[in-house]
Amino acid sequence: MFQKAVDSLIDFPGMVGIIGGEPLLHPEFEWMARYLEARIPNKDRRGLWSTLPEKKTTCAGTINRVFGNLYLNDHTVDTVLHQPILVASQEMVPAREEMWKYIDKCWVQSMWSASITPKGAYFCEVAAAMDMLFDGPGGWPVEPGWWKRAPDEFGDQKKLWCPNCGCAIPLKRRPSVDKIDDISPGNLERLKGIGSPKVQRGLYSVYHKGLSQDWRPDPNWYMSHVEKETEYRGRIAARLHMGDAGS
Ligand code: SF4
Repeated sequence: MFQKAVDSLIDFPGMVGIIGGEPLLHPEFEWMARYLEARIPNKDRRGLWSTLPEKKTTCAGTINRVFGNLYLNDHTVDTVLHQPILVASQEMVPAREEMWKYIDKCWVQSMWSASITPKGAYFCEVAAAMDMLFDGPGGWPVEPGWWKRAPDEFGDQKKLWCPNCGCAIPLKRRPSVDKIDDISPGNLERLKGIGSPKVQRGLYSVYHKGLSQDWRPDPNWYMSHVEKETEYRGRIAARLHMGDAGS
């Protein structure tokens, strides 16, 4: 499936990334990275989303060689804020027309987003993950050119998953260091129904805050945290034996 996924993206003009969960925990990560390297010839088109677990620094050589783009998020600094994905827009915005207006402008869909899982190809990474989580009907066949679909062809996937997702609507974001998820009451019941281990451990908060107008922090907020960010990046870069923390 991994080979098929990579091969289907050879002509894709953008970046082809490996994302998890945590890709480095996969027992065949090294082989997968080499396969990606062989099939997608330009390093700038290869990406990795990882927390760079400290026990996996043995992968540093492969990561430095194969990936031209590295996205870090190890949940150790409060400057990383997470959008509450599990707060369903259909529960927060009862007016359907308004809900779809938000969804049509979803920042996730506009910024990256198409994704492949063992169940097929999806227009959106979050829809793909939800289909896995809630045992949905599966995605499109993974075949050359699947990614050429235009938004008006996303219909069934969009109708099924976007109303259960909170990415497109203005909600209060949570620092990743909190290590809990905000969940809307309906999604909480669904997660209880599938025996979510995180819900069973009580690592959640039921979201009752409603829509929030300050969901995107002011750019000045980021500027005031530059020192903390630089220290964070340096710490992670050190795991990869990289000299320049900003690169
Ligand atoms: S599933 Fe969520 S993240 Fe994906 S396009 Fe729909 S609202 Fe946006």
